[in-house]
Amino acid sequence: MSSPLERMVGCEAAAQLAAAREADRYHDACGIFGVYGHPEAAHLTYLGLYALQHRGQESAGIATSNGREHAVHRAMGLVGDVFSEKILRRLPGRHAVGHVRYSTAGESSLRNAQPFCASTDGGPVAIAHNGNLVNAGAIRRELEGRGSILTSTSDSEVLVHLLARSRESTPEDRLIDALSRVKGAYSLAMLTDDALIAARDPFGFRPLSLARLGDGWIVASETCAFDLIGADYERDLEPGEVIVIRRGRLRTLRPFPPAPRQAFCIFEQIYFARPDSNVIGHSVYQFRKELGRILAREHPVAADMVVPVLDSGNAAALGYAEESVIPYETALIRNQYVKRTFIEPSASIRDFRVRIKHNASRQMVGGKRVVLVEDSIVRGTTLLKLVGLMRHAGASEVHVRVSSPPNIGPCHYGIDTPTREELIAHRHSVEEIRQILGADTLGYLSIDGLRGAARNLKHGICDACFSDDYPIPVDADAEPPQLSLFRLVEPDDESALGS
Ligand code: AMP
Repeated sequence: MSSPLERMVGCEAAAQLAAAREADRYHDACGIFGVYGHPEAAHLTYLGLYALQHRGQESAGIATSNGREHAVHRAMGLVGDVFSEKILRRLPGRHAVGHVRYSTAGESSLRNAQPFCASTDGGPVAIAHNGNLVNAGAIRRELEGRGSILTSTSDSEVLVHLLARSRESTPEDRLIDALSRVKGAYSLAMLTDDALIAARDPFGFRPLSLARLGDGWIVASETCAFDLIGADYERDLEPGEVIVIRRGRLRTLRPFPPAPRQAFCIFEQIYFARPDSNVIGHSVYQFRKELGRILAREHPVAADMVVPVLDSGNAAALGYAEESVIPYETALIRNQYVKRTFIEPSASIRDFRVRIKHNASRQMVGGKRVVLVEDSIVRGTTLLKLVGLMRHAGASEVHVRVSSPPNIGPCHYGIDTPTREELIAHRHSVEEIRQILGADTLGYLSIDGLRGAARNLKHGICDACFSDDYPIPVDADAEPPQLSLFRLVEPDDESALGS
């Protein structure tokens, strides 16, 4: 499936270095989208991915099928840059799957861009996967031992290989066979020559919703993608559900035993999902506001204004302000044209980005007691700068409130987080973090507060990043193997010119 751009040069040492960096991280937070039965399947997928862009800014891809012809285009970059009208016209057919991928450090390259495509003896398939498979390393070693040639460093690729090797006859049975081998998180959409198949793992880690558009069907990571294309939301896929849409009919399969518990990722509601989405049947915006209200009850403070960290703290700050009856002021301004902090691959650039990203209004905060509300603290980089900005702008007191509990562990199921050691709350107590940030007071939402709010959700949650209670144990299997892939040289990679 390699494009002409996927020209392989380079040396093994460079690849191993990249793999070592990769092994230290868990990424692959992604957005997926699928269309069954619409004449403009590629265009709709393009729009759907556009709406899901916040879930992944590194690469984008669309695969389509008209039953006879199958096409895919994947490239590094934002959806709007990756696809042109000309490319979309060359993606034929009434069925499509699309993917946006999010990654920070380690290898971020075209070979990991999805959908992954393969031709199997059951026909061609393209898979778009969101989530992390915790036993991908072990399966990968097993596959390679049996002669499979893996061309990416992504855990999602093992699914394609398991599926290709399955002895089941239909694509859905092959997929189910493959999924029964993997452990971890998956919400996925798979395209065959005549069907769209979608699945959610039995724990239900990542979201996946279903909608109708005319006679066609749409699946998407988040409902905001339905709104953009005017599709009517039907329902969420249930944990462990597999749906098969073929010849205009949707079939539901429940091939797996139920998981010991449901484990919907609560960080989707806290930070990751778009506030205009309904995730597992609940408004993300309302949930965040509710967290702000609980936070105000747990950590009240006398202050003149509540200021959100735009945009991540908006809804929680509003909830905090309403509950505490303190005016809400957007006294911290964000430069809209600077990308999210995490996208930058090196720490030094990240600090720079935070500095150019925000500005505090001296007129508004001068001499005032400010409550700064943010959704989460990861390394502490953002709030360290923002507390400083507030003080520099003349705030007399700066109180930091965080609408999630201290983030003490990495996510192994599909949210991009740094290693445990890099998490400030893993290394420091709340009081130490307050001192590091230079805040007058610091209050995190309690885990009980979060779980109380989550009781209104349709499913049980995973809050492992705050509680260390990992629903699927992450053992040595989770460590990606030492890969010896050739380093991919991409067109603007000048460092490779001499090699
Ligand atoms: P930090 O500056 O390292 O403390 O990161 C906290 C900031 O990053 C907050 O603005 C969060 O909204 C945001 N954030 C939290 N988790 C993530 C994530 N997994 N990916 C990208 N941004 C995140």
